[in-house]
Formats: sequence, C-alpha cells, structure tokens
Amino acid sequence: MKEPMIRIRDVRKVYHIGNEKVVALDRINTEIGKGEICCIFGTSGSGKSTLLNQISGMEKPTEGHVLIGNVNITKLGEEQMAAFRQKHIGFIFQTYNLLPYMTALENTALPLMFQGYGRKAREERAAVLLKRVGLAERMYHYPAQMSGGQQQRVGIARAFAGNPKVIFADDPTGNLDTKTTAQIMEMIMEIAE
Ligand code: ADP
Ligand code: MG
Repeated sequence: MKEPMIRIRDVRKVYHIGNEKVVALDRINTEIGKGEICCIFGTSGSGKSTLLNQISGMEKPTEGHVLIGNVNITKLGEEQMAAFRQKHIGFIFQTYNLLPYMTALENTALPLMFQGYGRKAREERAAVLLKRVGLAERMYHYPAQMSGGQQQRVGIARAFAGNPKVIFADDPTGNLDTKTTAQIMEMIMEIAE
C-alpha cells in the first residue's frame, strides 16, 4: 500500500442508552492509503456510519484513535477539530444536506468561504466544479428545483470544492435509483482520481 492517509487504531465505540449498551465498533484496525478509494459494505446497523463518524472526527471513539496524515484527530479539541475538518475534509451525505435558500453555486462555494477565498474566486471555483458534475445549466437553481441526482451532484461539487485531503461519503446513493446511483458513483471516482 501507498503511504497511509488514514490510520485506524483499536477503535471501539460504545453507546449507552438507558441500561442498554451497544458496542457499535469493537476494536477496528485498518489503514487507508493516500489516493485510495475505500468502500465499506455491511448490513444496516453493522456500524458503517459509526465508523465514518469516528474517522471524520464527528464523534470521539470510546477507545482507540484515528490519525489523518500525521495528525491524531482523536486528541484534537472541538475547535481544533472543526478547523481541521474545514481545511482537510469533504463530506457527501445521503440526504445531500444542501442549504435550501442557496443556489447550487452558493452551496458549492460555501466551504471556500471558511478557507478565506473572496467571493469572486469562490464562485469561479464553484462554477468549474459544477461544470465538472454536468450542472452548468443549473448553477442558479435552488435545491427544491432539482432532482435527487442533481442535488447529489451539487453535494459532490461542494465536497471537492475546497480540495480536501479526504472525502467521506456516507451512503451517498442511498436515496437514488439504480441508474443514478451508477452515475453518481462514477462521478465521485472520476473526480477523486
Ligand atoms: P450502519 O450505518 O451500518 O447502518 P450505524 O453505524 O448507524 O450502522 O449503527 C451501528 C449500531 O450503533 C446500531 O446498532 C445503532 O443502533 C447504534 N447506534 C448508532 N448511533 C447511535 C447513537 N447515536 N446512539 C446509540 N446507538 C447508536
Ligand atoms: Mg449508516
């Protein structure tokens, strides 16, 4: 394997609900290489989202740690983690999570705002990405005016906009039909390459 980008070390995640204890992850160890596209398969409830939440820093593992590059993200405080995420991590969500009152262009440009790009530079970069995902004609459309597949393409453009080191996608095609699923997966792979 190429140089590891993500190192998962003895990650355990236990949820407590009332008196119930749910061991969602039980000592996971793995590495994902730089430039690698890694897919996690498993039945519903097997812990895929939980694992993604631990390795993207959305949650802290009960035990173990996660390194991204050479940063041990498990040791970062909340603010440091938020800053790290803004700078290095892109997300694609199952339910797209676009802001309803923003156009495709504004949604795509949003992560760049946190990186200190000026408005013009943000919109130029966002337009390039939207063209990449085949939405040149939809830049000024709002999420409600687009199909699920189109909204997810905006989601992809947004995730890649800030040139992140890592992109996480949790069930990105879970709400899409078979044909659109194939297109979306192809698009994610292609831009990632
Ligand atoms: P998947 O994404 O593979 O469908 P999840 O990671 O969502 O699975 O869930 C794994 C297990 O952890 C399930 O048993 C689920 O009920 C439990 N779980 C996930 N998140 C929480 C939470 N926030 N609180 C309590 N239990 C949770
Ligand atoms: Mg899930």
